[in-house]
Amino acid sequence: MGNEPTQKSSWWRDGVVYQVYVRSFADGNGDGTGDIAGLRDRLDYLQALGVDALWINPWYESPLRDGGYDVADYRMIDPRFGTVEEVEVLITEAHERGIRIIADLVPNHTSSDHAWFVEALNSPKGSPARARYHFLDGKGDGSEPPSNWTAVFGGSAWEQVDDGQWYLHLFDPSQPDLNWENEEVRAEFDAVMRFWLDRGIDGFRIDVAHGLIKDPEFPDVEKAAAILEADRSGNHPHWDRDGVHEINRRWRSLLNEYDDRMMVAEAWVAADRLPLYLRSDEYHQSFNFDLLEASWDAEEFAEIIGRSVAAAEAVGAPSTWVLSNHDVMRHATRYGLPHGMNWRKWPMVGPASALDFELGQKRARAAGLVTLSLPGSAYVYQGEELGLPEVWDLPEDVLDDPTWERSGRTEKGRDGSRVPIPWSAKGPSLGFGDSEPWLPQPPVFATMAVANQTEDPNSMWSLYRDAIALRREHLCGGHDFEISPVKNGVLAYRHGPIFVHVNMGTEPFKLAGRTVLLSSDEVDELVLPVGACSWSVD
Ligand code: BGC
Repeated sequence: MGNEPTQKSSWWRDGVVYQVYVRSFADGNGDGTGDIAGLRDRLDYLQALGVDALWINPWYESPLRDGGYDVADYRMIDPRFGTVEEVEVLITEAHERGIRIIADLVPNHTSSDHAWFVEALNSPKGSPARARYHFLDGKGDGSEPPSNWTAVFGGSAWEQVDDGQWYLHLFDPSQPDLNWENEEVRAEFDAVMRFWLDRGIDGFRIDVAHGLIKDPEFPDVEKAAAILEADRSGNHPHWDRDGVHEINRRWRSLLNEYDDRMMVAEAWVAADRLPLYLRSDEYHQSFNFDLLEASWDAEEFAEIIGRSVAAAEAVGAPSTWVLSNHDVMRHATRYGLPHGMNWRKWPMVGPASALDFELGQKRARAAGLVTLSLPGSAYVYQGEELGLPEVWDLPEDVLDDPTWERSGRTEKGRDGSRVPIPWSAKGPSLGFGDSEPWLPQPPVFATMAVANQTEDPNSMWSLYRDAIALRREHLCGGHDFEISPVKNGVLAYRHGPIFVHVNMGTEPFKLAGRTVLLSSDEVDELVLPVGACSWSVD
């Protein structure tokens, strides 16, 4: 205690940010859903792990049709999660432990339950209430959608309402897109930001930061709108349009009125366009998803790391490192699949036997030591510190992600990365709460529970804790970085005093003349086994 954040203005530059998917973290009131009470109970755990900040997925009032990314009221906490007063207490208690809180802000769309959208539905064509969203007449006789845009979760991005008009939703129909050309929308989000900043929130993770501005002509697209496959040149009618930068700057100047706050963009844009988001009057940082997309391959890792570090230096904004989050298959499972296999499709097409669980665990240990040793900030997704696998085989009747239905049941969706955390080896929800959890936990979670791992010096948890502590001691505060050419499948770089080697090849590797500080696997006689990572000094 008494460890309140004091260091000003750069905590986010090399912080370890732990992502809390609140619905699945810890259930304090026994209803099967995680909540703020549960999170408050576990702050000591997070302090022991050593993280600098928490990014908390949306906790606002919501029908939870997209896990809370469908916000009905931006100034209320969903009663299943708690209250605004509890958030205030959480902020105080976290700050007492030296932990900052980053809230998730969802500006691209509201829930269809939001008062504005309800008003829009009850208002005529051309009304100011409709102007807050994108309501258009259809093509031809009006029965065709205004454009061929497709939604990220599948199907058309347009939904028709009773009077024949169509509204835009880049995600689920329950998530109508706001019209960011409308000054009332901009002013409302300024006010929402201030509401939370005034309560002590340290920063925002901005959802779909690259999607806010749409081409006012709503032209057809040649390719489907899938977030990762669309045209990334800056000419797409709804992704990464130049108009977003004006909004970024507006928010940055608002944040600058407060002390020591930050914002991080979720922007799926081309590598050469990302620096535009990181200009000194825009975002403090942006997620870098390149490592998350990479296969277990030393050349690929080296190329991404070298390029990202150079790009970060060039713009003066720290890189971020992400291996997993609530939207993708957990990396302990990805790394257990054969090279070249499409992990997005595998849960549906199999075969189940393609997965090597132990290999995934081994590589996940090594990969954790990679992201925690690089310059910039490291994002750790809850459960990653336990090595939790993707629960890719959840029964169909429990699936909650809109992707499942919207894709015509051809994509299982993201629930497998959102299964509640096992805190103990026994109990109806393995210590998550007192009742059945909202998604079922597989038997393997019992063996990976927090209670087992915090007692075991060789566990994934202990490795993360030790790495975070060593990182704070040796790697924070800005150090030089140098990456070596890959030889024999070994990724090697130096960050400040620490030499990092990752053996992604097929033969054991000799670490000549070094003292090993930490390794993901046992290193005997300075021999780094295949699949292992070491941190060493001269
Ligand atoms: C979030 C997703 C969400 C989507 C729509 C994202 O990128 O991370 O979980 O479904 O935005 O809000």
